[in-house]
Amino acid sequence: MSVAIALDGPAGAGKSSIAKRAAKALDFIYVDTGALYRTIGLAATRKGVEPKPSDEVEKLLNEITVDLTFNDKGEQIVLLDGEDVSGLIRTPEASMMASKISAVPSVRAYLLDLQRNMAKSHNVIMDGRDIGTVVLPDANVKIFLTASPEARAQRRYKELCEKGMDVKYEDILNDVITRDYNDTHRQTAPLKPAEGCVMVDTTELDFEQSVEKIISVIKEHCRL
Ligand code: C5P
Repeated sequence: MSVAIALDGPAGAGKSSIAKRAAKALDFIYVDTGALYRTIGLAATRKGVEPKPSDEVEKLLNEITVDLTFNDKGEQIVLLDGEDVSGLIRTPEASMMASKISAVPSVRAYLLDLQRNMAKSHNVIMDGRDIGTVVLPDANVKIFLTASPEARAQRRYKELCEKGMDVKYEDILNDVITRDYNDTHRQTAPLKPAEGCVMVDTTELDFEQSVEKIISVIKEHCRL
């Protein structure tokens, strides 16, 4: 039986970088489900489809294929109709599009099996918004990782500046607040702590401390 760790929390809480490092230390696969929503957002942008429930979104979902694979460093690659779009989906515009299209119920249903199948075949740390509540409700450990909106915006701002992007802290903070609102207020699979989850607040923790905390929670609950 494979081991599944569900890691949920708001945008910018550090889930992906923390989960990547913890997965490496534990020899698990790290699955970033946000990349899947970003990819569908990219497909919609390319075809000029509005991110709201419609026949056009249904048609789009019938036309595209989205796949996850891993390179030889164990990094996740997301494929849209066979094209590696892992880099293209990392812009602030793609973030906002993902946040909007992820509220469409058929988009969430479309991605469900893909996510569940990953957890059947591998030991995973899967990060997202509804992993502990909807995708893997029977996960061995469910963790809800959070931090204040300001701390999250500050981290994302630093990350984008380091990539050479010309962004303003206030815009990033507004994005974080808007995405939190969208994620927690949508009708289908809203972001909320799963029943029985372990809450981890990283506002006062640096990166290494956050990784240590997550690894110790996983070891404690899975007896690894
Ligand atoms: O995690 P990331 O910021 O890459 O996710 C992009 C967007 O996809 C989020 O703002 C959220 O709206 C959506 N998402 C989701 N459910 C998930 C993962 C991401 O709704 N499991």
